[in-house]
Amino acid sequence: MTKTERIKNTLRETKDRRKTQRVFVYELKLQNLSKRKVALLERAFLEAKWLYNWLVSDTNRLDATVHKVKTVEVKVGDHYEQRELTVLGSQIKQEIANRIKDNLRALSQLKRNGHNVGALKPKCFVNSIPLVQYGKTHKLDFDRKKIRIQILGTFRVLGLHQIPDDVEIANAVLVRKPSGYYLHVTCYRSKDRCVPVDKIGDAVGVDFGISSKLTLSNGIKIDFEVRESLRLKRLQRKLSRKRMSSKNRKRVRFLLNKEYEKLNRRRRDAQNKVLAFLKHYGTVVFQDDYVKGWSSLWGGAVHSSGIGGLKSRLRHSLETPISVERMETTTRECFACGLRHDLSLSDRVIVCECGWECDRDVNAALVIMRKGLGLSPHQAVGVGRPELTPLERATAARILGSNPCIRVSFLDEGGSLSHRDRMRPSRYCSDQVDTRRPASCPYPRTGQARYPRHN
Ligand SMILES: [Zn+2]
Repeated sequence: MTKTERIKNTLRETKDRRKTQRVFVYELKLQNLSKRKVALLERAFLEAKWLYNWLVSDTNRLDATVHKVKTVEVKVGDHYEQRELTVLGSQIKQEIANRIKDNLRALSQLKRNGHNVGALKPKCFVNSIPLVQYGKTHKLDFDRKKIRIQILGTFRVLGLHQIPDDVEIANAVLVRKPSGYYLHVTCYRSKDRCVPVDKIGDAVGVDFGISSKLTLSNGIKIDFEVRESLRLKRLQRKLSRKRMSSKNRKRVRFLLNKEYEKLNRRRRDAQNKVLAFLKHYGTVVFQDDYVKGWSSLWGGAVHSSGIGGLKSRLRHSLETPISVERMETTTRECFACGLRHDLSLSDRVIVCECGWECDRDVNAALVIMRKGLGLSPHQAVGVGRPELTPLERATAARILGSNPCIRVSFLDEGGSLSHRDRMRPSRYCSDQVDTRRPASCPYPRTGQARYPRHN
């Protein structure tokens, strides 16, 4: 058997095996970095950028054997200089080329679908380096809590305990973030080893809104918001005053990116919690709204919630998501009889002649669920409004309550709202008055007087 045949066979075997497996990605942080190691890592990201830009500037170079490239031309000012690639392995180089090929393929697909497409442009920075083959480009050492990366050497890492024993470790990505260097390791685990979640309900409808971010058809309202912090605004102002391409500007830019990363992590965590809760339902029905259109209406409130991101994650990470057409009316329709009502934004309760009276958002969630399941109003009357079980309450409190940015409230059968206020006046939800300052302080308090509220 020739080498190409053998490779083909293993690829086919892997593909078959993946069908019975589930994918997990674990994040490991590189720890205890000496100055030499940091310099080495920085060099690697710099070389990845050089190679990327060299390939992008002339895509004919992609056809050549990229893994054998030793030197590249780098544009310095208005002329070109030769730079040597010293710390990138051959497989890494090849994978960088493959990434560009994938991007080009995706662009041409977009072009065929009628989008306006430009050429790939050179990058100012490359923040991720692909490591393709476990055992060759990277290797984990669980006993010594270290990883070995081709040419770059070994690094002490944090977070290896997350990876279970029975997984198959595959490719990884070396990532540079403002807070440090990370390795994202892809692992595969066979499906029957994964413990399924205990279901607490069959179907649930979700209505996305502004006043409460998510309203479920059983009366749970979930609201989360990670506002832009004061520090972020301060840094943005500082940055605007720094001289272009100065060292100071670079430093503030770095601090700003770090702050953004922090906020994004909090947003992500809130999303994770909501997703984890929704996974306890058999089917989740939601409407495919146009979130981008909202942000022009409501501004930062949409942006700081990350609703768009949550929706796409709902679509991809749930087992049985059902989405309802964007054009279907849901808010103004009566759940019980399907009659259309004229509701203004200030009407919070829908009252129908048929005797149906319900909170506006809950009604919308119910209609979304009914339409998603393909039921007519007459079929759904028997279903009625599903009652909120104690188990659902407990699960919501357990999962969503651990995040200080999430507020959960339960709408009871009678329509009264029992708050379970979990949004502490903490540093996570900034834009609040700095309480550390004594009341007698002659200066205006930071937060309210000096900066207008963001939204
Ligand atoms: Zn009605």
